[in-house]
Order: sequence, then structure tokens, then C-alpha cells
Amino acid sequence: MHVYRLYVPVQPKVGIVSLHGDTAHRLINVLRLRPGDAFALTDGKGNEMRSRLIKAQRDEALVEIYEVTQPSREPKGHICLAITVLKGERFDWLIQKAVELGVREILPLLTRNCVVRISRDDSQRKQKRWLSIAISAMEQSGGCVLPIIHEPTSLSEALARAKHFDARIMLHEGAERALHQAVGELVMAKSAVLFVGPEGGFDDAEVEEAVSHGVVAVNLGRRILRSETAAIVGTAIILHHLEKP
Ligand code: SAM
Repeated sequence: MHVYRLYVPVQPKVGIVSLHGDTAHRLINVLRLRPGDAFALTDGKGNEMRSRLIKAQRDEALVEIYEVTQPSREPKGHICLAITVLKGERFDWLIQKAVELGVREILPLLTRNCVVRISRDDSQRKQKRWLSIAISAMEQSGGCVLPIIHEPTSLSEALARAKHFDARIMLHEGAERALHQAVGELVMAKSAVLFVGPEGGFDDAEVEEAVSHGVVAVNLGRRILRSETAAIVGTAIILHHLEKP
């Protein structure tokens, strides 16, 4: 049976909660739940709260949380997808699919060949929009951990942060090694950061800078994929390998 799942950052404990605003609107007017109907809430921190609607008023839903669990629907590996910001809907699509797969962090990059220009105001507006896409994708795919959507940042800053990950991989169509060779070495890794470039690719200096930070540049075969396709293929392959016992 399909269970509606909504992200609501409430305390994960059994009891009665009163929900207002957008959440109440979704329960009452969009999902059209009636008193007694069951659904699930998640706090985005790994908890799922099995709930039922007790009372629906115009802008308030009275809800009983009757069980709190920590379902194991997350992939074992922690992946941070560090990808150059793409134009409009292509980046939205990428976020949706990456969250469906179970990526834990998305780090939007501003690299040399990036065609998107982002002001400070834009940056926060976009980050908010990407977060709402991530929330919907998490709810839809049964996830209970809300990924972190970072503010757009430079490649140098991203490389400095990458040292905290067990594996650092860059997708680069000119690389000699293939991803399937590199993942064979991920045996003990629990976390990985995956760098993906813009339509114009990473330039040589950027690849060199990444390699000097311990990043392994790899190819995905002989075909040139669009950035968002490459990101999803690369993520799926790495997640599969991190999943191994
Ligand atoms: N500048 C390149 C060209 O025109 O030949 C294409 C860049 S590709 C469209 C965009 C990004 O996707 C790349 O920076 C890389 O991260 C990734 N990518 C696409 N195809 C790839 C492949 N075959 N191997 C590795 N990375 C790939």
C-alpha cells in the first residue's frame, strides 16, 4: 500500500502534534486525507513517524504520531556530488535524480567553463529552490535523510573540503583510467566525493589542481555524456560499489 510521506521537521516522538501552513494544506487539500487516514512524516534526520490524521480544520491538521522508526532505506555509502551549476531545468532534474539515488550532499560548483552567473542573492534563492526539489524527491523515494544542498562554491574551496572523504573522484572525458577501474579500489571506502564538470568540461588547469589534491580523474567510456547524465551514471556506479560488504 502506498504511504504518503511528508517532510516536517518536528520532534520524532509519539504524541499529538498540530501542523499548520503548507503541511496542513497538503494533508487536507492536496492529499485529501480524512480523520483516521494514515501517512508518514519524516524529520529528514533518519526518523520516520507513522501517523494518522485526527482532525482537519481550515488551516490546522491535528495529527497523532503513533510510532517512530529509523528505516534502513538509505544507501550505505555517503556520496557528495560536486557538480558545476547547469542551466535551469537541467540542474533541477539532476538534483531530483541524485536525491532519488540517495546522494547525501550536493555541492554546486562555479568552474571556469560554467555558463551560469550567480550573484549573492541569486545564490541563496537558487539554494532554497534546490532544497525544495530535494525535499520532494526525498519524500517521493521513501528517503528519511534530507541531503545537504550547499551554497555554490569555487572548485578550490570544494577541493579543500574534499579531504574529509575516503575517495575523491573526478569525471573527466580525457582521463586515461576508467571509473570501473578506480571503483575497484573503493573496498574500504564509506564516503566519496564525485566531481562533474559543465558542458564545456573542466579545463586542464582545473584537472591538474584536482589531481594535486589527491583526486583521481576517470572516464566513463568513449561517449561524451551531458553533465547531468554523467553525474547520475557516475553516482549509481560508485553507490553500487560502496554498498558492497
Ligand atoms: N568538453 C567536453 C567536450 O566537448 O568534449 C565535454 C564535457 S561533458 C559534456 C560535461 C561533463 O560531464 C564533463 O566535464 C565530465 O565531468 C562529464 N563527462 C561527460 N562524458 C564523460 C565521459 N565519457 N567520461 C568522463 N566524464 C564525462
